[in-house]
Amino acid sequence: MWGILEILPMPPKGMSAAPESATPFAQPGEPLWQALGWHPSPDQLQQLIGLQQLLREWNSRLNLTRLVEGEDFWIAQVLDSLWPLLPWLREAPDAALRCIDVGTGGGFPGLAVAIALPNAHLTLVDSVGRKLQAVQAMAEALGLGERVELRGERIEVTGRQQRCRGQFDLAMARAVAAAPVVAEYLVPLLAPQGQALLYRGQWSGSDQADLERALLRLKARISRLEQRELPAGRGLRTALLLDASDRCPSTYPRAVGIPSKFPLGQEG
Ligand code: SAM
Repeated sequence: MWGILEILPMPPKGMSAAPESATPFAQPGEPLWQALGWHPSPDQLQQLIGLQQLLREWNSRLNLTRLVEGEDFWIAQVLDSLWPLLPWLREAPDAALRCIDVGTGGGFPGLAVAIALPNAHLTLVDSVGRKLQAVQAMAEALGLGERVELRGERIEVTGRQQRCRGQFDLAMARAVAAAPVVAEYLVPLLAPQGQALLYRGQWSGSDQADLERALLRLKARISRLEQRELPAGRGLRTALLLDASDRCPSTYPRAVGIPSKFPLGQEG
């Protein structure tokens, strides 16, 4: 024991190192799944635990995410990724959904969704190639390689590829850009009955007005808005589901960089 104590880094003065079991949400136990309202199978649970371990390993080489340990991982990554999908998790867990995660970064929400929906096909897009290489290696190590496809490109390019435009049942993005920008990224990817899922935090009337102006141009509308407080004081989250009211005009998405520089509905 002495050897281990000697090499553990000391916490800064005035701070104590809290054990992972300090709160019921820091580990993948019953309170976490009760809070989510869905329980993983034993295999899915092992994959989620494996994902956390893989993130630790890749994070030591690349700065993928700071949300890797305890509640940061189980609440701010796993639960935050999965709660907007409860209707599918409960009512259609075996559906062969075609999903796309735009701006997947270190693999969220995409990898969590691939684990939770075992027949879904996930396309994960990010413009940063080294992040995608790590995500690909993690997907393969978790046995998800056949259902997870990676695209290292800007989404404005993806949205114009025949293989992707109008092809997805569910197009999602978390922490990528302002809502009108994300809508321009996601709506052109939707199949006729497809839905776009925007992960947001706080949501105001003016956010909604901005988004609705953009949706008029994209010929889409908000079909559902849901909010919930994450456990352990992790804050309010908002999930918006959009669906297409007509075919998305071929002018969208605009050229690389234009959607974020001149968000739809706010061009002046
Ligand atoms: N979705 C992840 C999450 O919630 O942890 C990552 C969020 S990270 C803040 C935003 C990611 O979106 C970055 O990895 C960035 O490279 C990617 N991104 C932003 N704009 C993009 C675009 N137009 N095309 C492709 N990727 C984009």
